[in-house]
Amino acid sequence: MISVAIDGPAGAGKSTLARQLARDLGYIYVDTGAMYRAVGLYALRAGADPADPAAVDPLLPGIRLRLAVLDGEQHIYLNGEDVSALIRTEAVGMAASAVGANPAVRAFLLGLQRDMARTGNVLMDGRDIGTVILPDATVKIFLTASPEARARRRWLEYQAAGRPDRYEDVLADVKRRDEQDSGRAAAPLRRAEDAVLLDTSAMDLAQSLAAMKQIIKERVGE
Ligand code: C5P
Repeated sequence: MISVAIDGPAGAGKSTLARQLARDLGYIYVDTGAMYRAVGLYALRAGADPADPAAVDPLLPGIRLRLAVLDGEQHIYLNGEDVSALIRTEAVGMAASAVGANPAVRAFLLGLQRDMARTGNVLMDGRDIGTVILPDATVKIFLTASPEARARRRWLEYQAAGRPDRYEDVLADVKRRDEQDSGRAAAPLRRAEDAVLLDTSAMDLAQSLAAMKQIIKERVGE
């Protein structure tokens, strides 16, 4: 069974690239960020401070998550409700980042993520896939880009969606989330020693995709 671990900071294009790669290679795509987002959304809805383990930990037994592919699109279900669209906001992203610093949440999601890697060839993206979840992954890629390049991409997405966000605010969010993700004690974002580093600051999507396919081909021989 082949597993491809893709880690990197917010906005490096991980999910777009991983989704497309998984489709091209016929692998199962596992978006672990969506799981943290769903837990973050659940905490917000419950009125709990996502950064407070004492408030979040008791909620975990009440959370059931399921990932499914529907018409080629990845969907995530939180206690049976499709929350795929609801989790794509900056507020839920920040909540995801906060619950991601909580070891009990990480332990809760670890089993689920490892189980998914046992079901077939997978391409999993996140922050600690190559370091913690799948240390023996067939291929590990650490995908990154400058904060400015990542903020610009996100801002362009927002513009296309008709959202009025200012570039400066998006950049500030990107930097804040980087700090939260890299500075935390539980599974901080870092590159696994055996991960191939790919900086996509000066690459467009097609170039990034080609570079990733090349890396996978060299390791898997497909
Ligand atoms: O990748 P995405 O932006 O959807 O992730 C949302 C947040 O969830 C990240 O900022 C990160 O803090 C957290 N996360 C994590 N570990 C993962 C995936 C996401 O801590 N494997």
